[in-house]
Amino acid sequence: MEKLLSLVVPAFNEEEAMEQSFERTYRAMSSIGYPFEIIYIDDGSRDRTWEIISRLAREHEEVKALRFSRNFGHQLAVTAGMDEAKGDAVIIMDADLQDPPEVIADMVKAWEQGADIAYGKRMHRKGETAAKKFTAWCYYRLLNFMSAYPIPLDTGDFRLLDKAVADEFKVLREHNRFLRGMSAWLGYNAVPVEYVREERCAGKTKYTLKKMLRLAADGIFGFSSKPLTLIGWTGMAVVCIALLGLMATIVCSAVTGVPGWLWAVCGLVLLDGVILCAMGVQGAYTQRIYDEVKGRPLYIIKEKQN
Ligand code: UDP
Ligand code: MG
Repeated sequence: MEKLLSLVVPAFNEEEAMEQSFERTYRAMSSIGYPFEIIYIDDGSRDRTWEIISRLAREHEEVKALRFSRNFGHQLAVTAGMDEAKGDAVIIMDADLQDPPEVIADMVKAWEQGADIAYGKRMHRKGETAAKKFTAWCYYRLLNFMSAYPIPLDTGDFRLLDKAVADEFKVLREHNRFLRGMSAWLGYNAVPVEYVREERCAGKTKYTLKKMLRLAADGIFGFSSKPLTLIGWTGMAVVCIALLGLMATIVCSAVTGVPGWLWAVCGLVLLDGVILCAMGVQGAYTQRIYDEVKGRPLYIIKEKQN
């Protein structure tokens, strides 16, 4: 039997991009030569996105449409698509054509040559601000310092997974998801496929600063317990500094007459800051434990087409 490709595309308020995105994607997928399915997940859009993708599903038997009951976020939308996918290879792609669908053919080639994972490696990013590139550069270096499962630099979620990897993925049901980290954790034979990241074809980014910070935190807290160790080391460093400060205070106030309690107040405020930061880090882990203990489903599907 011929192998099937599953393409998973999450979309949140993408009415401006959907039509041209579909046309280019459909053309690119048809030219690869395998039978395929395109799974669109409407992540609780408030515009015409669902109207468009449910119409596409009516018109094309390859298109499947899922609709979330609300906005659950990009990572969960991709998860829902992967749960639905039946293919021998599963490809994850954005709806805004920043990940060029033509690159999928190269990923499929790498897969045919034995790659379990073919991940898109961005050689160049068009139309992204220097600030975004710089923060991404810093973040991935910090993440790889913290995490025991290094994530290749300049990669996103644009990738092809063999069925075996996709099936293992389905077993990982953690709530605060960072898919590229989970992909690194799974291991397997991962091969880069170089591409130029294009500009968004229409509309604006749907990743708000808040969503981006959340994802960044999920990457670090989900794949490293180093922040907890660092708290301990910070505590010890603060104790040493405080001891030195105490001695300096005693000497200074004896010599200059500046009241010793002024120094003590500054020291206390500093220490409070350190303690609150430490509580924040611990809280981040506690919150993630709480999310798991509640055991809620990862997402709710309100409607399905095909
Ligand atoms: N997306 C989503 N849910 C969200 C935010 C984004 O499904 O809450 C989708 C979005 O429609 C797009 C992909 O995730 O297909 C990547 O989002 P976007 O292009 O806005 O992010 P950027 O490329 O700017 O980082
Ligand atoms: Mg984008």
